[in-house]
Order: sequence, then structure tokens, then C-alpha cells
Amino acid sequence: MNLYDSLHRELRRFEPGSPGRVTVYGCGPTVYDYAHIGNFRTFVVYDLLHRQLRRHGHEVEFVVNFTDVDDKTIDGAAAAGCSLTEHTGPFIDAFLADAGTLGFLPVSRHPRATGYIPAMVEFVERLIEAGHAYRAGDGSVYYSVGTFGDYGKLSGKGGEDDSRRSRIDAGEFAKKDARDFALWKAAQPADREVGAVWDSPWGAGRPGWHLECSVMVMSLLGDTVDIHVGGEDLLFPHHENEIAQSEAATGRPFARFWMHVKHLKVDDRKMSKSLGNFHTVRELVDDGHDPAAIRWVLLSAHYRSELNFTAGGLADATEAVQRLLDFRRRMTEGAERAGASEVGATNAVDGELAERARRHLDEFGRAMDQDLNVPRALASLWGLVRDGNAALDAPGGVSGEDREAVLAALAEMDLALGVIDLAAKARDVDDDTSRRIQEMVEARDRARKERDFATADRLRAELEAQGVRLEDTPAGTRWKRVRTSGS
Ligand code: AMP
Ligand code: ZN
Repeated sequence: MNLYDSLHRELRRFEPGSPGRVTVYGCGPTVYDYAHIGNFRTFVVYDLLHRQLRRHGHEVEFVVNFTDVDDKTIDGAAAAGCSLTEHTGPFIDAFLADAGTLGFLPVSRHPRATGYIPAMVEFVERLIEAGHAYRAGDGSVYYSVGTFGDYGKLSGKGGEDDSRRSRIDAGEFAKKDARDFALWKAAQPADREVGAVWDSPWGAGRPGWHLECSVMVMSLLGDTVDIHVGGEDLLFPHHENEIAQSEAATGRPFARFWMHVKHLKVDDRKMSKSLGNFHTVRELVDDGHDPAAIRWVLLSAHYRSELNFTAGGLADATEAVQRLLDFRRRMTEGAERAGASEVGATNAVDGELAERARRHLDEFGRAMDQDLNVPRALASLWGLVRDGNAALDAPGGVSGEDREAVLAALAEMDLALGVIDLAAKARDVDDDTSRRIQEMVEARDRARKERDFATADRLRAELEAQGVRLEDTPAGTRWKRVRTSGS
């Protein structure tokens, strides 16, 4: 498998550091709000990577953290008048729910930064002892960028001492060099207000964001992680600083591969609340969009290419997902019938479709192995659909062997993409729910006919609680689902 490594700025052949076991760390959401679909472009790429590594038979240790203490989470808690954990908890739950909605494989661990404070304190002590960090007068501790010769190797930025060039922030008066960054921040009133304060040898305070990720990586995955991944905005300074801290402490490469996902745009613009083009997964689902279609949009472009989210793109994705489901159903129904009617069907091209299916699957796999080239992989997927449909339409029909090969190839592709099963499940749940609602509505009608109004009222209340509105018409009871507030 080849992956583009942002540090070496080239495609490199990926082999795990220890055979059979791959370690991956993805920078996770800052849990001060709901993650938006831009965040989820990045997280969908984590999931594609996870799936592809698993397809290679590797045991994958995949860690995605929650940044649950930083400026934004503290400000959010202070504004809401609650504690840090009260503020972040619901957004952690929301992230996990959205990840489920989009069909992510469960990752190995979701560490929270606040769960690793003692290890962070120890790590800072280690850096101070080694001369890579210093205490400032206010009780903060800074990393001394000038002590790390390789600083800037990832981003090409900040390699020279620019202390004279750039103004040092008023709040960071104690820094010796403008490039230095806080490892430990002395407690501020807002931190105390929300309970974001921990003891340390330097006084009460909290960890800096860059430190958090380094320590979670090293605590859970060791000094060197196979792949470290995040959105493109994290390359500098976040990942540059992670490298500086970690490699200064251990003397070993921190990550063997660095991957960065290009930012999603919405309607050709940077997503922002003020532009009104800010979407969350739950809002889109509440508006009736298929989670599988949302996932399809987010994965459809190569992760290092532009991706622009639009209503039209989502509509196309919905259609694409439906085509795949229809194709699978057509192929499956035929396979189920084949037992009876098509036994011995003499298909002129018997076995040829199976052969084509295997070729499409090979090409699909090769594309995914080429730095997760999804657009090329999707071309193979559509090739399979085209050949399959053509054979189904042909007079000779499709033999059982051919059908099985096509369905197997499709299933294997979907293990990598995670779209078709996701779409099918959502529809099954939908069918089940509709059936259950219909039964309750009929039970209420019967109760009313028998003048058992207590039961009828109870059923109506239960249905309403589930977001079902009843309408009694002369022709009988009609029902419809009304939007429930996203939770
Ligand atoms: P945050 O919650 O801001 O810490 O971001 C979580 C992840 O989402 C990080 O890996 C970011 O780089 C990534 N991210 C943020 N905005 C976007 C965007 N518009 N498109 C893609 N990824 C993003
Ligand atoms: Zn990080």
C-alpha cells in the first residue's frame, strides 16, 4: 500500500513498523460544539484508512482522541455557566452518535485529554530536565523551539529564530522566543471557574493542546506511531510542535507517516457559522438526507483534493446510493430465484461476468492501495454495476456463479467504502419503524371502536412522544412523522 507522507512529501510504500500490527493516531474533535461536516470529511478519511488497513489483514490499533480541554472548551463551559465536563460530555456523546450514523468502524480507543494529565505533567518535567523547556515567571512552561534542530521539518515553517521579527503576545510575555509554545498554562480565572485546573510542580494550570496529543500518542501507542493523521490545518503548528516535543524527548521518529486531509468547502466557501453554510450531520439527517449519501459525498473526492459540498452534490450522492442498492437487489433477487428457474440456464458468457467482477475488484483494491484513490476505485465500482446490469438485461440471463461473483465483489468493495450496507440498514430500520407505527395506529383505532378511550389516548401519547402526528379523517387515521429536535 502506498500513502502520501506529508513529511517526506512523496508517496511511500507503507509497511507497519512491527509486522501485522499497525498503529494510527488521528487528531479528534475539539468537543466544544457539534462536529461539522468539514470535520467529518477528515473523520471519514480516518475510517477509509482504517478499513483499508484491515482489508490487508493488519491488526489495527486506531486511536482518535477527544480534545476536551483547551481555550474553546473552557470558553464554552464558562459561557454556558457549567463545568468543563458538563460542557464537553454531551458533545462527546454527539460525536459518537454521528460516527455511528455515518457507519464508522469502531476505533480501538477514544482517549480524552483530561484523562492523561499526570502523564502530561511527567512529560513536561522530562522536557525541562533535558533542557527543551523552561518555566516562566507566571507558572507556565514553554517549549524552547530553538533547542530542537529539526524544527520546521514538517511544515517548512518557523525554522529560524524569529524572536525579533514577530511580536510576542501580551499574554505570553514570558516567552524567550516568539516560536516557543506553551506546554503548561498557568491557571486563569476562567479555568478555575469551570474546573479546568490541575496541580503541577509549577503551580495550578492546564496542559497545552500540542502536548495533549503527543502524550496520548505515546501513552497508548508508544514512542513511534505508524501513521499520524489530521486535517490540513493541523500540519502547522500543531503537528510540527508535536514532533518537536516528542522527538526531543525520545530521540526517535514520532510518526513514520504523516497524512493530512484537505479541508471541505461548502458552496465554494470556507464553512462558517456567519456565512450560514455550516452543517452538522444531525441537521442534514433531520432534514431527511440519507446518512449513506452524506458519507458518499464526503468520501467521493480524493482526500488531498478539493471537495466542495453542495445541495446538488448531495442529491447526486443520494441517487448514486440508490442505484447501488437497486443493483444489489436486482442481482440478489436473481440469485435467490436462480435455485428454481435458472438451474442449468445456458448463458453464452457464463463465467465471463465472474471474471470481469474479479478484475473490477482487483482494480478497485489497487486504487485504494494507491493513497486511498477513491475516485479511481469508484470508477471500478461503476464498471462492475454497468457490466452486471448489462448481463441482467441480456436475453441469456446471469448464471448463479456469475451472480455470486458479482455480489462478492460488491460486498468486498463495500467493506472498503461502507456505504451500501449503511444505506440498506437505514432503510430496514425505516421499514421496521413504519410497520411498528402502523400497528400502534391500528391498535388505537380498535380501542376507539371499542370505546376504550384510555387505551386510545395512551397510544396517541406514545406515538406523539415518538414524533408521530395522527390525523383522524373520515377515511380513517392517517399518520405522519414530524421532525423531532435533534439530540
Ligand atoms: P477540531 O474539532 O477543530 O479540533 O477539528 C477536528 C478535525 O477536523 C481536525 O483534524 C481538523 O483538521 C479537521 N477539520 C476542521 N475543519 C475542517 C474542514 N473544513 N474540512 C476538513 N477537515 C476539517
Ligand atoms: Zn492533535
